[in-house]
Amino acid sequence: MTSIDPSPRAAARAEVVDAPTMLRAAGLRVTTQRSAVLDVLRQSAHVAVDELHERVHEQIPGIALQTVHGIVNDITAAGIAQRVSLPGASSSLYELARGDNHHHVQCVVCGRVEDVDCVVGEAPCLAPNHNHDMRILEASVTFRGICADCE
Ligand SMILES: [Zn+2]
Ligand SMILES: [Zn+2]
Repeated sequence: MTSIDPSPRAAARAEVVDAPTMLRAAGLRVTTQRSAVLDVLRQSAHVAVDELHERVHEQIPGIALQTVHGIVNDITAAGIAQRVSLPGASSSLYELARGDNHHHVQCVVCGRVEDVDCVVGEAPCLAPNHNHDMRILEASVTFRGICADCE
């Protein structure tokens, strides 16, 4: 066994480690297919499963959409990737988990999505007026706007 930190936080270092290292750190078996999916996510954030499949398909022609769905579920459950659900989006988007509680800004015209840093310091970064007796872990904020190209 390696001494790599197995916690999901290990994924915060995703930018500097390769896909097999990320998989091993999360306790997942390293496969060519999983590595290919992770490589696409390392290159671009906020990718829908359909697009992930399209891009992985260029390297692994036989891979089925259902396989990509399975991989995305596995790596999300393992904390390597996270699901980004945006209001009005027809499908969920995925990105590497960075453990930084970042938020998103979305163009209401073309749908482009970008990361924005945590609004105030660290998670949850926004506190509700009334917490209904829940201990608040995080706030997920989507800013909606119009990008310069669409303006
Ligand atoms: Zn736009
Ligand atoms: Zn993001």
